[in-house]
Amino acid sequence: MSQNTVSIVGLGPMGRAMAAVYLDAGYRVTVWNRSPGKDTALAERGAHTAATVQGALAASERTLLSLIDIEAMYATLGEADLSGRVLVNLSSDVPEKARAAAGWAAARGASYLTGGVNASPDGLGKPESSIFISGPQEVYEAHREALDLLATTDFRGTEPGLAQLYYQLNMTLFWTAMTGYYQAVAIARANGLTAADILPYARYTADGMSGFYEWATPAIDAGDHDGGAERLAMCAASVEHVLHTAAGADIDTSILAAHADLFRSGVAAGFGADSSSRLIGLLHKG
Ligand code: NDP
Repeated sequence: MSQNTVSIVGLGPMGRAMAAVYLDAGYRVTVWNRSPGKDTALAERGAHTAATVQGALAASERTLLSLIDIEAMYATLGEADLSGRVLVNLSSDVPEKARAAAGWAAARGASYLTGGVNASPDGLGKPESSIFISGPQEVYEAHREALDLLATTDFRGTEPGLAQLYYQLNMTLFWTAMTGYYQAVAIARANGLTAADILPYARYTADGMSGFYEWATPAIDAGDHDGGAERLAMCAASVEHVLHTAAGADIDTSILAAHADLFRSGVAAGFGADSSSRLIGLLHKG
């Protein structure tokens, strides 16, 4: 049987980790990076370095892009002949840009999949990690086995922006949670505590969030805002306590003040006796 092949364009931490996964799996791996020197460890393990990006495209059945964003794809592939090539763009970006990129690649004769990687470089090569994929289903099916080596693929649909939409939804949760964590640590430190001191409680709260999502989801989708004990007026008061605890610790309160404004606007709109899920409606402009 002939050896499976993959090219990786972009050797940041993610691209290097992807190349390592394929080397471990016995693939013939070809790599290319804009700046030199990032291929050294991979070359020592048997990866081939293409002299040009066109060479990388030509060397394999599929080329994975792991670039900082979609603009970097245009900068990298703008002059290349893409006809008959299979591109899997695993670079993060916004759904509209992912859609435009798919159209751009198709107009140049390439088959194109969008991917959103739900893992850190260390998480690649592990089936518990996942990658959202969108684009032509037959292209996905043809390359699924190879992509599943990186992380379990989750095909979100043929509309090319979908993988990045789902990815950005996850990132919305992730970055707001991380910002919340950093604020909690800043308040803790201002009070003489360390991040380690609050870790057990941070973990407890984070673990509880999935149960909260599961509890809230059916009611949200049913348009039911009877939260029982979880009343917006109570939640708004709690958010004020958080804001004032931060202010008392001399922490920058701009993010928490924006939270408090949102909760206040829900109470002002007359939803104080309802669930805080009323805030979702207020987030929709107009
Ligand atoms: P890096 O920021 O290290 O960038 C990766 C590549 O982008 C490098 O090859 C770099 O080339 C290239 N690049 C940057 N700017 C340009 C440009 N203007 N034109 C052409 N090429 C450019 O990213 P990572 O490897 O960390 O991540 C790659 C993708 O994966 C990103 O979209 C990221 O959001 C996503 N991702 C990353 C995760 C992580 O933990 N790192 C987790 C999940 C997703 P050069 O070496 O020449 O600068």
